[in-house]
Amino acid sequence: MSSIAAVGENYQKFNPRAYLQNNYMPPRADFSSDDFVVPWKLRCLAEAFGTGEIHGHTVIDIGSGPTIYQILSSPDHFEEIIMTDFLEVNREVLRRWLQAEPGSFDWSPYIKHACILEGKGEHWKDKERKLRDKVKHVLPIDIHQLKPLGSALTEPADALVSTFCLEAASPNYESFQKALENVTTLLKPGGHFLMIGALEESFYLAGEAKLLVVPVTEEDVKEAFTRCGYKICDFRTYVMPSSLKIGVDDVRGIFFVHAQKKTQA
Ligand code: SAM
Repeated sequence: MSSIAAVGENYQKFNPRAYLQNNYMPPRADFSSDDFVVPWKLRCLAEAFGTGEIHGHTVIDIGSGPTIYQILSSPDHFEEIIMTDFLEVNREVLRRWLQAEPGSFDWSPYIKHACILEGKGEHWKDKERKLRDKVKHVLPIDIHQLKPLGSALTEPADALVSTFCLEAASPNYESFQKALENVTTLLKPGGHFLMIGALEESFYLAGEAKLLVVPVTEEDVKEAFTRCGYKICDFRTYVMPSSLKIGVDDVRGIFFVHAQKKTQA
């Protein structure tokens, strides 16, 4: 299992429901303390968007999977949010949530927590409505293509968000670096990229599927961004506590990077 094609083939067994259960339900989805992983991720994103530096017409979420938490703090800063994923099964889960179909995953604890972190006194239902309204497209993507969105994008975006995608879809560091180069073409010069990902992880489970992950270190991530022509504005790490090592992956920690694409290479 070492080629991009083999990784893509393995993803055909990805089970969104199992993935959501493993990562976005308790014990990992515990909002009682910032020491837990989900509040840590939401805080990184809320603080970055809260600076007011990241705004514009369009933000693209790269490899959304079946999740929406990663864009919760973005709607006030953009006219349009584009969500993307490699798998139709994940795009369908997203569409169903956007249409508020019965049986969709309950993101309300996340939305409520994002409202608290942002501290603007917004009611969570208003945030939910705004988010659903701002997501204009759910598109297929392949980060290993030179043009990851094909011809679907006419103009580069003002910002990119991506959570747990590049390392989880790349068989080795070289393809991780190349995937970052590919998605960077979707971003305007001067645009911002917020990425969260796994540190030193080699696999995760999503139902029957065991997905292989390229283990990356903090230095690997920083080097990849620097080589792709970004200035790193913020870099944070989280050590996964043993109470959250629940056998669904072997992740050691998590990184958050806020990087800005330089206007000149
Ligand atoms: N962003 C979500 C999150 O934060 O939980 C999902 C992350 S999940 C670990 C990895 C995602 O990468 C999956 O949704 C998968 O479909 C997607 N993926 C796999 N191969 C890809 C590719 N070649 N291009 C883009 N996304 C890909």
